[in-house]
Amino acid sequence: MKLAIANTFSEELPADPIQENYRRQVRNACFSYVNPKKTNNPKILHVSNEMMEELGLSKDDTISDEFLQIMTGNKVLEDSKPYCMHYGGHQFGHWAGQLGDGRAINLAEVEYNSKRWAIQLKGSGETPYSRNADGLAVLRSSIREYLCSEAMFHLGVPTTRALSLATTGDQVLRDIMYNGNSAYEKGAIVSRVAPSFIRFGNFEILAAYKDHETLKALTDYTIKYYFPEIKAGSKEGYLEFLRSVSSRSLKMVIDWQRVGFVHGVMNTDNMSILGLTIDYGPYGWLEGYDHGWTPNTTDRQFKRYRYGTQPEIVLWNLYQLANALYPLIEEIEAIEEILHEYQNTYKQEYYTMMCSKLGLFNTQMRDEVLVKDLEEILQLTETDMTIFFRNLANYTKGDANDFMKIIKDAFYHVEEVEGPILERWNEWFSRYDQRLGLTSLDDTERKNKMNGVNPKYVLRNYMAQLAIDDADKGNYDLIDELYQMLKKPYDEQPEYEKWFVKRPDWARNKVGCSMLSCSS
Ligand code: AMP
Ligand code: MG
Repeated sequence: MKLAIANTFSEELPADPIQENYRRQVRNACFSYVNPKKTNNPKILHVSNEMMEELGLSKDDTISDEFLQIMTGNKVLEDSKPYCMHYGGHQFGHWAGQLGDGRAINLAEVEYNSKRWAIQLKGSGETPYSRNADGLAVLRSSIREYLCSEAMFHLGVPTTRALSLATTGDQVLRDIMYNGNSAYEKGAIVSRVAPSFIRFGNFEILAAYKDHETLKALTDYTIKYYFPEIKAGSKEGYLEFLRSVSSRSLKMVIDWQRVGFVHGVMNTDNMSILGLTIDYGPYGWLEGYDHGWTPNTTDRQFKRYRYGTQPEIVLWNLYQLANALYPLIEEIEAIEEILHEYQNTYKQEYYTMMCSKLGLFNTQMRDEVLVKDLEEILQLTETDMTIFFRNLANYTKGDANDFMKIIKDAFYHVEEVEGPILERWNEWFSRYDQRLGLTSLDDTERKNKMNGVNPKYVLRNYMAQLAIDDADKGNYDLIDELYQMLKKPYDEQPEYEKWFVKRPDWARNKVGCSMLSCSS
């Protein structure tokens, strides 16, 4: 197996001088060296072909024993020294101090086709940042991260990627619902890949310790490798950096809203500085369109990270990043301008995106009202987001009286669509029809364009759970079936039509389907 190792993070930034693996508070460093834990009886369950090719690996490489041993922690890549990153973060609105890679270990950075990739093992044992936890991951959460990160990539949403999914042969103790019922589960490791895994929290921890020298080094490093269009070393450069992170994060969250993805734990340690979706934990996909929905049971009470607030939370998180970068910039007004810009641009981009879901590709002033009304009506009775928008593309101009035949499959309780609710729909469709009358696209052209923004297939919560249930019994076929299907989420793929359905009733209140905890 040939990987062109080109480590920069660990070569150019200050390391924690201690190399033993025990829990500690780390200062004046961006990372600590640590080796992955050996695994007992590792098995690769799945490899992402697309990611394999991105890294210049062949099929033979990925079925080799070397690949298996490296991607499950038993062997370290030649010419590389694994390490975990030092970061802090705001969790659920509060500063949490040092966090760091508690169960993720960076193996190396590699270069291929002029691209830089960091390869990381998630679930490969304790690190200096593991606090009171074991550094391990279980199969269910690993399947969820593996499938979802690749699915998001194919949906066109900025994300970290996954290369391989493996079981370790070791048992891991978990209390899924935090109710005292601990049980052993299969241990697993995902090898995940991204240009870099640097988070907002990497900057925050250095600012919190007033370690401005290392903060500057980390910022200059990040700009040099990941924002090469910016000139580092000046206040203008750091402001430009903040602006760029802000616009990348904005693009990411608009995409989340478009496809109905709810991250579930948008703490600042889970915000990638590159604007990638990172750390797939208790995430979920909207089934019924509902601004108030969160999959995360830990967040049930305040619903801080519910679907409808995700864009505001990104802004809140950007404020924390801005605070961290302040010592390098020292210009409050210029910083505030960038954050205000996020707010304004967000509104614009959001409505443009929502209009595209409706097949309106040249937006007009009054479209905002059409979108707002639709958002309201969609929440009057449980209405499946994916099915609604996908089927809306079948609408033909002039057919406003017959709208029910287009959208009825999206309703969980079609009998509730009567009286005032039916009236609202009637009224909305007649306005929608009038608005479509002002567009130049014909029905077929509009449908084709809409199908490019409204996915037909997403990783519904119950689908991942079915794959997990099978995998627990040793059957991994469904992992591959979902993986293959989710490679082309915008295509019709009639062979997978059975997955273009509403959430089945059994999944409504099942753990893992509608309720997830951080216990992974
Ligand atoms: P998360 O909310 O999963 O992103 O994790 C928040 C923090 O807890 C990070 O510092 C993780 O590395 C750490 N963490 C989560 N699970 C574990 C685990 N099983 N062992 C060690 N650290 C963990
Ligand atoms: Mg995390």
